[in-house]
Amino acid sequence: MINKKMQDAINKQINEELFSSYLYLSMSAYFETLNLKGFAHWMKIQAYEEQFHAAKLYNHIVERGGAVNLLPINEPAHSWKSALEIFEESLKHEYHITKCIDDLMNLSLEERDHASRTLLTWFVDEQVEEENSFTEMVEKLKMIGDNNPMLLMQDKEMLARTTTVDVLNPQGTAQP
Ligand code: MG
Repeated sequence: MINKKMQDAINKQINEELFSSYLYLSMSAYFETLNLKGFAHWMKIQAYEEQFHAAKLYNHIVERGGAVNLLPINEPAHSWKSALEIFEESLKHEYHITKCIDDLMNLSLEERDHASRTLLTWFVDEQVEEENSFTEMVEKLKMIGDNNPMLLMQDKEMLARTTTVDVLNPQGTAQP
């Protein structure tokens, strides 16, 4: 059985992950308005993977006899100045999520909740991947700068992103 303190903190993290999904979906919609279909596709997959993160936490609470309490999701921004600005904001957001995961991990240690600690280890590793993939994109977009033909080439490349995660099977351990 999960304790109340840990349960509340994980419910808060479900909200963080669902906000992340909302934010990336909003970014995807913005890329659609620019006709950058590859970037839109990449961000839509990112949004889906955030739902998977939420589902993993949700599942953990359910499996341990706790109560999932869904909280209001904040409204994300709707427009940005450039693709670079979008990825810089995303990277900053992922730094924030990493801090949330680290705080949750610290709480699991204080509470001696080893089941939560094991689950959170997955998230700690996942955040290394997330920060890395957004950093790579920021660096690429800085190199592309105002070169529109290069931006269109990058857009094509973004279409290749796939995912192996399944929101309906959150115990799957496949790394996105
Ligand atoms: Mg996430």
